Amino acid sequence: MTLAGKTAVITGSNSGIGLGVARELAKAGANVVLNSFTDRDEDYELARDIADVTGVTATYVQADMSKAEDCRRLIDAAGGCDILINNAGIQYVAPVEEFPVAKWDAIIAINLSSAFHTTAAAIPGMKDRGWGRVINIASAHGLTASPYKSAYVAAKHGIVGLTKTVALETAQLPITANAICPGYVLTPLVESQIPDTMKEYDMSREDVIKTVMLERQPSKEFATTQQLGGTAAFLCSDAAAQITGTTISVDGGWTAL
Ligand code: NAD
Repeated sequence: MTLAGKTAVITGSNSGIGLGVARELAKAGANVVLNSFTDRDEDYELARDIADVTGVTATYVQADMSKAEDCRRLIDAAGGCDILINNAGIQYVAPVEEFPVAKWDAIIAINLSSAFHTTAAAIPGMKDRGWGRVINIASAHGLTASPYKSAYVAAKHGIVGLTKTVALETAQLPITANAICPGYVLTPLVESQIPDTMKEYDMSREDVIKTVMLERQPSKEFATTQQLGGTAAFLCSDAAAQITGTTISVDGGWTAL
């Protein structure tokens, strides 16, 4: 499969799953636009590194996915977005009655509303060019819930609904919209939850990983960023042209339980 000549915009891609997806799409030949809210030398260096390794055009665009105007500016800056990967996301854990309002607002803005803004900005160009792929990185928490993750679970269920709606609106065009629902993937987002969980349960790192994090993941293995990138690349292939409005779980069996 080649995605040569296509441009992929990946929100929140200076780390973790977004970076893994960017690398896999670049390996498949797509030009990639990386993004985060920071403006550091190392952000631009990541793009240069992808370009050096794969030979595609890779750029980095600073834009804050908590802000509507930045979401739309990112798509403009890409100069044509054929593949849109809505991946930017944050997490916060607290009982619903103690959940800070600012954290709720930030999670809904970054994990859900940003996908509305980028999709709205990208669809007209996809229609003009007659091809497009919208791939939303949801979560097993887009299909099931866990306690203390009210904002995250609400945002992830919301992005699954947005995915279905965009798929119906584009169903008769060569544009598809799907959500990938990962289980646990060992990225900085997950790594940052380990110390608190170790304290909370008075457990070693290994026990937190095995008995808390991977408790609901029957494979007892983390999914990898490469596997998620490969799934995104598959959704961009001709074989996936009739796959739209659905979710693909990459969760080691979590949602089969
Ligand atoms: P991560 O922390 O490594 O990456 C998150 C990315 O989002 C980073 O690049 C960060 O810079 C970016 N980001 C955060 N706030 C932003 C903002 N305001 N503007 C632009 N970018 C912003 O985490 P990850 O695990 O790679 O998560 C990526 C996505 O995958 C998230 O949507 C997350 O919910 C989802 N996910 C992760 C897991 C997992 O186990 N790691 C499981 C299911 C779903």
